[in-house]
Amino acid sequence: MILPPWEGRVNVLEVISPHTEQPIAQVTAAEPADVDAAVGAARAAFDTGPWSRTEPAERIDAIRRLADGYDKRRAEMADVITAEIGAPITFAQRAQVGLPAMMMRAFCDLAERHRWQENRPGFFGGEVLVRKQPVGVVAAIVPWNMPQFLIVSKLVPALLAGCPVVLKPAPESPLDALLLAEMINEIGLPPGVVSVLPGGAAIGEQLVGHPGVDKVSFTGSTAAGRAVAAVCGANLTRVGLELGGKSAAIVLDDAAPEKVAAGVRSASLSNSGQICNALTRVLVPEQRHDEYVDALAAEMAGIRVGDPSDPATQMGPLVSQRQRQRVCNYIDVGQSEGARMVLGGTEPPDGLDRGWYVRPTLFAAADNSMRIAREEIFGPVITVVPYRDEDDALSIANDSDYGLAGSVWSADTERALVIAGRVRTGTLGINQGYTMDPFAPFGGVKGSGYGRELGPEGIDGYLDTMSIAVAPNA
Ligand code: NAD
Repeated sequence: MILPPWEGRVNVLEVISPHTEQPIAQVTAAEPADVDAAVGAARAAFDTGPWSRTEPAERIDAIRRLADGYDKRRAEMADVITAEIGAPITFAQRAQVGLPAMMMRAFCDLAERHRWQENRPGFFGGEVLVRKQPVGVVAAIVPWNMPQFLIVSKLVPALLAGCPVVLKPAPESPLDALLLAEMINEIGLPPGVVSVLPGGAAIGEQLVGHPGVDKVSFTGSTAAGRAVAAVCGANLTRVGLELGGKSAAIVLDDAAPEKVAAGVRSASLSNSGQICNALTRVLVPEQRHDEYVDALAAEMAGIRVGDPSDPATQMGPLVSQRQRQRVCNYIDVGQSEGARMVLGGTEPPDGLDRGWYVRPTLFAAADNSMRIAREEIFGPVITVVPYRDEDDALSIANDSDYGLAGSVWSADTERALVIAGRVRTGTLGINQGYTMDPFAPFGGVKGSGYGRELGPEGIDGYLDTMSIAVAPNA
C-alpha cells in the first residue's frame, strides 16, 4: 500500500529545500487509520499471505529485480535526496544512493549463503531441525540523514527474511521513500508486503505501539529511542535501536597529522556532519596538540560550502532551520565553556545568507566534560581534546554516554589494534573512520542502542529460531 495524494486529505507534509528555504513538494501525510490499514495488510500478508511462506530463493529473486530497477533510477534518486536534505550531489550519488544500490545485491549474496535450517543430532538420540523463521510484521522507522541507506538496511533484510514491512520515513525526507515505493510497486510484491507511511513522530508512536507489529526497527535519536524502547518493553515487542553517537578518534603520537586530518574530515564532515558514526571527538597527545589542530584547520578551511546541486560543492546546508539552530547553539555553548574556536562560528558562510548553512567549525583544547565533547551535535563541528598518555586517551574515549563508532590512528597497525580492543563501542576503524561494510554488522552499545544491522547479523535480526525435535525411530 502506498499513499497516493487522495482527494479530501487535509494533512500534508511540506518538503522544504534546505538550500532555498522554499517548499519543493507536498506529500499526503498518513493518518491514524492508515497505520491500522497498513499494519492490517502486513498482518494478512504474514499470517495468511504467501510472502512469509515463500522460499528464500524467490525472495532473493524479487530483491535482485528491485536492485535492477533501482540502478536505472539512481540519478533521479540522487537528485531527490539532494533536493530534500541538501546533501551535495556527488555525495548523494556515491554514498546516499550508490551504497544502498550495492547493499541490495550484497544482502542477496548473504541470503544465498544464509543457514536457513540446520539439522542437528539431538542429545536424546533424535534429530533436531533448527529453523530460521521470519519474525513477523516489521515496523521500520528512519531519520532523514542517510534516508535510502537506512531504509535499505532495514527493508531489504526484512523482506529477504520473509517479513512484511511498514516503513515510516522522516517528515523531512518522504520523497525518496515514495520513489523507492514506486520501484517496489514495479516488481509486483503480494499485497500488504510493503507500505510506506509518510508522517511525523505521532505516526511513528502509533506504529511502534501497534499490537499487530512483531518487531520494531528504529533508527534515530537516543531520546526517541528510549521512548520507543519503553513502549516495546511494555508490549514485549522485539526492537532494534540504532541511535546517536559521539565517537572518538584516538590519535596515537606516531600518526601523521595530514593523514589524520584528511581521514577525520571525510569521516566527520561528509553530509555536513549529519552522520551518526562521525568522529566528533578527536583525542590527541597533548605534546603534539597544536600540530594536529593546525592540520585539521588547514583541511577544514579548504572545504567548498555551497549549493548542493553543484558538483563542485563539498558541503551543503543542514537539513532544516531547527537543525541549524541546534548546531549554532552548540557553537555558542563551546565558546562559553572555554574551548578555543579555531575555525568557523555561527555566522553564515560568505555569500550564503539564504539556506541553512553552517561553517565547518573546529574547537581545540577542549575538555571531555564540556557539552560539545559529550553531546551529539549532528553538524559540521569537531572538538579536539588533548590527552596525557594512552590510558588517559582510553579513559576519555570510554567516558561517553555513547558507543557507536570510533577509530585509532597510528603508523603501527598492531599498536592501534591493541588500543582498539579496549574501546567500548560497536564499531571501530583503524586509520579511517568506521566504514560501513555490507558484510559486517553495524550497531552500538550504551546510549547508541542495541541490535545489529548489515552483514548476516542484519538478516538474523528479522528471524526467529525455531527448534523442531523429531522422535528417535519415528
Ligand atoms: P529523531 O529520533 O527525532 O527521528 C527519527 C525518526 O523517528 C523520524 O522518522 C521521527 O519521525 C521518528 N520518531 C521520533 N520520535 C518518535 C517516537 N517517539 N516514536 C516513534 N517514532 C518517532 O531523530 P532525528 O534527530 O531526526 O535524526 C538524527 C538522529 O538519528 C541522530 O541522533 C543520529 O545519530 C541518529 N542516527 C543513527 C544512526 C545509526 O545507525 N545508529 C543512523 C542515522 C542517524
